[in-house]
Formats: sequence, structure tokens, C-alpha cells
Amino acid sequence: MNIVLIGAQGSGKGTQSRRLAQALKICYVASGDLFRKEISEQTELGVKAKAFIERGDLVPNDITVPMVLGRVVEADCVGGVLLDGFPRTIVQAQALDNGLQDVARAVNCAVYLMVPRDILLHRLSGRYICKAQQHVYNVNTNPPKVAGRCDIDGSDLYQRPDDRGDAVQKRLDIFFNETIQLLDYYRKHQKLIEVNGNQAIDQVHADLVRAITEKVK
Ligand code: ADP
Repeated sequence: MNIVLIGAQGSGKGTQSRRLAQALKICYVASGDLFRKEISEQTELGVKAKAFIERGDLVPNDITVPMVLGRVVEADCVGGVLLDGFPRTIVQAQALDNGLQDVARAVNCAVYLMVPRDILLHRLSGRYICKAQQHVYNVNTNPPKVAGRCDIDGSDLYQRPDDRGDAVQKRLDIFFNETIQLLDYYRKHQKLIEVNGNQAIDQVHADLVRAITEKVK
């Protein structure tokens, strides 16, 4: 089963998609995590992507598309993949469809995690992630047990540079102007599911599992 999760920054997309991938026993692939890994390893790709990411811009397709498609066809993803953060544009959605078709696979459904913009801003201002594995916390709504430490792996928590200041507004603008067009794309292909992301984490998870299981029978 190959699933695309669509949600604005702060929608809970990362938290939910990790849990969902575990529940559905498919591989979790987040484009942002792939970039952050490349940046921390100072690879050529990471060096190119860094400036775009810190400004809150999308990384150009000639860098992003091969990176994600290359990951999706690796051995651990053959049984299914949950994509977080890709595609973000129609061009990327078409590239994903073509890339999967080449290996006799397809997107089974696209899930939109709906959260109003004012709530997103509030959540993003309190977001911290762990250095080791990018586990997500929120000082307002989902704090760690020990301040500044990840509950799961004990690593330090930090605020992403693109969660500060103007970059947040820019990323939300890109989402609501551009990425939102994916909803029509997947609706036309009868693959779209919409779930209310403005609920408790466990409730959102339960709704996601139910909606996906009903859609992909
Ligand atoms: P968020 O969804 O909160 O912006 P991510 O961790 O998913 O965070 O992505 C961080 C940044 O990585 C994005 O702001 C963008 O610069 C880059 N990025 C991630 N996915 C894509 C993509 N599909 N296309 C272009 N750039 C991307």
C-alpha cells in the first residue's frame, strides 16, 4: 500500500504519519528528514538544499524528485510506503505517479489532514524536534516528560531554523497556495480522503486508520 499524507506545517502530519506507517506496517519516508540527513552529513545535495530550506522555500524539483523517488524504490519500501512531505506540487505528484508506474506500483490513496491556519501558527511556534530521530514535541500541546529531552531516545530537542520567524509564514503560504492544489489532483483520481486534524492525537490516528482501511480494501 502506497499512501501520501498531505497536511500543512504543524498539522501533525509528521507525528501521525510515523504512527500510521507503524500501524499499517509500511515504510515511513519524509522528504524533510531526507534533506535534514543530507544537510547534517554535508553531502553535495545537502549543501545545495540548505539555503532553500532555511528560507522556507521549496527545494527545486531536480534535487527533490530524484532524492525521494530513489528512496521509494529501495528494498524496505517495496512492500509499501507512507510519504510525508512529498509531493507538494502537481508536477511532483505526476513525477511520483510515473516513478511508481515504472516499477508496477501506484499511489493507493492521498490523505488530507485538515487544520485551520490560526491553529497551525500556534502549534508551530511551540514545536521542538529531537536531534537524533526527529521525534516531534510541542511545548504548549505535547511537551516532553523532561524539558529539552526526547522521551523516546533521550537526545536533545531543538527548534528548527525554518520554524522561526518569516520562514513559517512563507511555508504556510506555499502550502495554502500551491500544495492545496493536490487535493483536486487526487480527488479527480478518486484517491482523496479528508480527516479532521484538529482533534486529540489518538483520535486523529484512529480516524486515519479507519478512513484508509475503508478506502483501500
Ligand atoms: P514542513 O512540512 O514542516 O515544512 P518538512 O520537514 O517536511 O517540514 O520540510 C522542510 C523543508 O524541506 C521544506 O520547507 C522545503 O524547503 C523542503 N522540502 C521538503 N519536502 C519538499 C518537497 N516535496 N519539495 C520541495 N521542497 C521540499
